[in-house]
Amino acid sequence: MSASRLNLAELELPELESALETRGCERFHARQLYRWIYRRGIVDFEKMTDLSKDLRARLAADFDIVTPAVVSDLRSIDGTRKFVLELADHRRIEAVFIPDTPAMTFCISTQVGCAMGCGFCLTGKMGLVRNLTAGEIAGQVRVLAAATDLLDHPFNIVLMGMGEPLHNYDHTMKALRILHSETGLAVSPRRVTLSTVGIVPGLQRLSHEPLMPNLAISLHATTDEQRSELVPPNRKYPLAEILETCRRFPLKKRSRITFEYVMLDQVNDSPEDARRLARLLSGIKAKVNLIPLNPAPGIPYARPSDERVDRFAQILADRHLTVSVRKSRGQDIRAACGQLIVEGGVKKSAAQQMALLLPS
Ligand code: SAH
Ligand code: SF4
Repeated sequence: MSASRLNLAELELPELESALETRGCERFHARQLYRWIYRRGIVDFEKMTDLSKDLRARLAADFDIVTPAVVSDLRSIDGTRKFVLELADHRRIEAVFIPDTPAMTFCISTQVGCAMGCGFCLTGKMGLVRNLTAGEIAGQVRVLAAATDLLDHPFNIVLMGMGEPLHNYDHTMKALRILHSETGLAVSPRRVTLSTVGIVPGLQRLSHEPLMPNLAISLHATTDEQRSELVPPNRKYPLAEILETCRRFPLKKRSRITFEYVMLDQVNDSPEDARRLARLLSGIKAKVNLIPLNPAPGIPYARPSDERVDRFAQILADRHLTVSVRKSRGQDIRAACGQLIVEGGVKKSAAQQMALLLPS
């Protein structure tokens, strides 16, 4: 790609209109292009048959529509599909399709790797390689919607793949605006959930966004001492600050903040932890999503027994919290949460390399 060629996948609709105008083309072609790219999944200008031949040739000369390439598409016995996608610089990311009925969900990545270093997460072990661009984040949705025949159907998006979305704030929000465009995929923000470890300045910015996704906070512990151990950014943004920000977070009618809690056997899963969690969440419109650990080689924690998970859930329910226990999907293809790690680009320890090779 030469420096003068513009990648249309990075542009919001008004930006695309200006780019066309600058090159002496009519602005209204931007809407036609958006429909081709996002509603029909077509990125080859030659196939955009409602544009004149002349225009198609000019567009092809000036522009690219860079799209993540599908390297592999693994199907789990439960219907989950894990896509490994390759970016223009050959870095690889993962995106997962979860065909839960009635909602179809795409779990997409916001970074290659992650800088947060949570002790139970394989992506965290990679460190941060780089941020994804808005076009790469929205591009995952384009590719998955086309591959699953859902371009014309409603689907949910969870930003729960690789990376910390609030650590790549601008690109993530721009991607949501691109996906929201009525002319394109028209994804409602109510269908998007942003999951974060709780980077307080990012949460404060988010609270002013016109396009507000649902919020999920990865809490995982009930004391600062333990949380700082499991989720290192807690040293900078401790529990009280995160929860205070959540208390003030502007929520739409009937909506609630989800608190994710990865359960680690004998570490954060005692009845006392459950009672403390209920106390911490008092006064917040909250629901709790318990995630029994997906164990992996190199991760020094174990998954608790179902009895321990149930007991923990019951204590929360008794205190009037809505609780769900996340079913692990796609274990056989290593597509479950925290199992998103791809080869290449980073140095890994022997244990981490083993983790890539072994079935879970
Ligand atoms: N960085 C963001 C979003 C990506 S992680 C965040 O942390 O919220 C998405 C979810 O997967 C988080 O709740 C995370 O804690 C969880 N997760 C990570 N590793 C896991 C593992 N080994 N087992 C189960 N869940 C895990
Ligand atoms: Fe990053 Fe989320 Fe994994 Fe923590 S759990 S290392 S924030 S991807």
